[in-house]
Amino acid sequence: MAAEQYEQLLRTQELDTRLAQLAHAKATHPLLVKIDQTRAHAAEVGAGVQDEREERHRLERDQKRLDDEVAMLDAKRADIEAKLYDGSVTATKDLLAMQEESKNLAERKASLEDAELEIMEQVEELQAVLDRAQQEIDADEQKISDFEAELAESFAELDAEAAQVQSERDAVVVSVPTELLDAYDRLRASQPGIVVARLVGGTCQACHMTLSAMTVDQIGKLDAEALVHCDQCGAILVR
Ligand SMILES: [Zn+2]
Repeated sequence: MAAEQYEQLLRTQELDTRLAQLAHAKATHPLLVKIDQTRAHAAEVGAGVQDEREERHRLERDQKRLDDEVAMLDAKRADIEAKLYDGSVTATKDLLAMQEESKNLAERKASLEDAELEIMEQVEELQAVLDRAQQEIDADEQKISDFEAELAESFAELDAEAAQVQSERDAVVVSVPTELLDAYDRLRASQPGIVVARLVGGTCQACHMTLSAMTVDQIGKLDAEALVHCDQCGAILVR
C-alpha cells in the first residue's frame, strides 16, 4: 500500500484531468461551431443582397424626387388655373397661352407618374428579393438564439460538474504535502499527460516502460514517503 499522500496525489491528478476535460468540452463545444457557421451564413445572405439594397435606396430617392416634382407641377398648375378663372387676365392671347401651359404641365405630370409607376414596380421586385433574404436571415437568427440557449444549458451542466470536481480537489489536496504538490505542479506545467503513476510489477503505468531490476530493488529500499520519479518519463511513482 502506497503512502496515503501518494494516493491523494493520484486522486488529485484524476480530478485535475477531469477539470481539464470539462474546460476542453466548453472550449470545443460543437454548438460553438454551429453558431459560427449560422452567423457566417446570415452575414453571407446579407452581403449577397447588398446590390439590391443599394439599388432600392437609389430608386426610392428617385421616387422622392419625382414626387417633389409632381407636387411642384400641381402647385404651378393650380396657380395658373386660378388665374384663368379669377378674371385677372383678360387678353385672349394670354388666356390661350396659360391654357397651353396648363396642358403642358398636365402632360409633364402624366409622364412623371408613368416613370414613378415603373420605379414602383422595380422597387417591388427588389423588395421581394430582399424579403426572401431577410426571411433567411431571420431563420438563422432564430437558430442562433436556440443554439445559444442550448449552449448555455450545456455550459451550466459542465460548470456545475467542474464546481463539484473543484471542491473535491480542494478537499483532497490538503492531504498532499507542499513539496510533493510543487513537484506535481512543475511536472504538469512542463509535460502533457500523466505525471503521477503507479509502479506495477516494476512497470511505470505512465510510460509503460519496465524499470531495471536494480532500480526497482533500490526503490524498494527507500522510505515509503520518499519521492521517486520514473527514470524513463519522469512521472512521480506511486509504490
Ligand atoms: Zn514512466
